Amino acid sequence: MIETLPLEIELTSQSRIDGVDFENLGFGRVFSDHMLVAEYKNGEWVSAKVMPYGNLYMSPAMSVLHYGQSIFEGLKAQYMKDGRISVFRPWENHKRMLASAERMCMPAVPEDLFIGGIKQLIEIDKKWIPKQKGASLYIRPFMFASEEFLGVRPSQEYKFIIFTCPVGNYYSEPVRLKIETHYSRVAQGGIGCAKTAGNYAASLYGAVKVQKMGYHQALWTNSLTHEYIEEVGTMNIMFRIGNRVLTPELGDTILKGVTRDSVLTLAREWGYEVEERKVSVKEIAEALQNGMLDEAFGLGTAAVVAHVKVMHYDGKDYELPPLEKRTLANKIYDYLIQLRNGDIEDTHNWLLI
Ligand code: PMP
Repeated sequence: MIETLPLEIELTSQSRIDGVDFENLGFGRVFSDHMLVAEYKNGEWVSAKVMPYGNLYMSPAMSVLHYGQSIFEGLKAQYMKDGRISVFRPWENHKRMLASAERMCMPAVPEDLFIGGIKQLIEIDKKWIPKQKGASLYIRPFMFASEEFLGVRPSQEYKFIIFTCPVGNYYSEPVRLKIETHYSRVAQGGIGCAKTAGNYAASLYGAVKVQKMGYHQALWTNSLTHEYIEEVGTMNIMFRIGNRVLTPELGDTILKGVTRDSVLTLAREWGYEVEERKVSVKEIAEALQNGMLDEAFGLGTAAVVAHVKVMHYDGKDYELPPLEKRTLANKIYDYLIQLRNGDIEDTHNWLLI
């Protein structure tokens, strides 16, 4: 299945699946039986092996632990209603991993290692894909600097690993946001467009602060002037004002979300006027104050859509319209769930089946 290098397979002698409560999976705590581990050395990928999921043996001097060269992806597989298995747009996750790798001075992961590895793991661990409606198998491919060396320069050795987790039907409760005008997730000229570990570490302090103030997440704004909206928590953000759909344009501070991209395609097809551009805090605040903001929602693989219930700006909480009036976000959610379930035709070729 993988052409660029031979794939060794060692199956577990003791599956852990019987101990799993599939009714209470939550997110990211239950791990399937196998993982794929590939190694990069001397300028090339030298080995790839599917093996039982388990701890890694590592040096305390391993570069990633000190200097943070680490990137990851997140996508989902699930059973369709006819019993086939679908993965949502894995090619986009692969492309994003290539972009993240380039930005972080890491090697490219070949497409057949990424996609072929996912297919192979899913085939081996297909019993781990939950069958309840809305549940799925979350797939976590990642790569990190594994050289035992303390110099600050790009590592010369890497590991690429894929493991999977059965996850429940993740429903995001409608979120209360604070428009953040002090802390930043990422900086202009920085690495916000890469899906790299440090961005998540950098967001924690500001996120915890807003949580202590009674909000779920920060609505991040640009670090230099805090005039423009960037992302919400770890999701892309979208707004609807009448027939207009607004979302911040991509750049070095915004992650190119696969859900965001899918929704922009759908919104255009559905006849909305889509505006991908700088979205200012001022225009959103004005729309909020005038009651013109019909919808605001976060977009990402985990929840698909997270409705925004309240936005805090300049000392005041603004309430958004009731959820039943969120025509766009509700339509997106239904469409993407139905598509993955095989209820509607995959006219965009988004599913790997
Ligand atoms: N922004 C950030 C910072 C994220 O971590 C994610 C989740 N990967 C997203 C946006 C949404 O991306 P996607 O739709 O590909 O999950």
